Amino acid sequence: MKKGHCLCGQVGWQYSGVETWACYCHCKDCTRNCAAPVTAFIGVELKSFEWINGEPRFYSSTAGVNRYFCEHCGTPMAFQAERYSGEIHLYAATLENPEEFKPEFHVHTAKQLPWLELADDLPKFGGSKT
Ligand SMILES: [Zn+2]
Ligand SMILES: [Zn+2]
Repeated sequence: MKKGHCLCGQVGWQYSGVETWACYCHCKDCTRNCAAPVTAFIGVELKSFEWINGEPRFYSSTAGVNRYFCEHCGTPMAFQAERYSGEIHLYAATLENPEEFKPEFHVHTAKQLPWLELADDLPKFGGSKT
């Protein structure tokens, strides 16, 4: 069972089972939503996922896309989209132990900020992966 939580601890999540996705995202919406130059996601199956402690609020950033956050401290928690039905994508930095996360690729590198330098050899997709 892996767990994560927001900054204030009032919203948490946990999941078991396989991860469907482990990547960096450089898209404009994630950058702005996280107020960070890049973000990282773990995709998990909804059937093995649950919110714990409190429930987050969400903002629909585009039709069919919900971005979850803690209403108390504002921490971005997750991304859920109709095109990835049956999954939820958690912001990897909200993991209990974020140092254990292993990103496998980058998406939306066409939008990568010019002042962000990353020196890894992971596969890079200019847009989304699929
Ligand atoms: Zn919070
Ligand atoms: Zn993104």
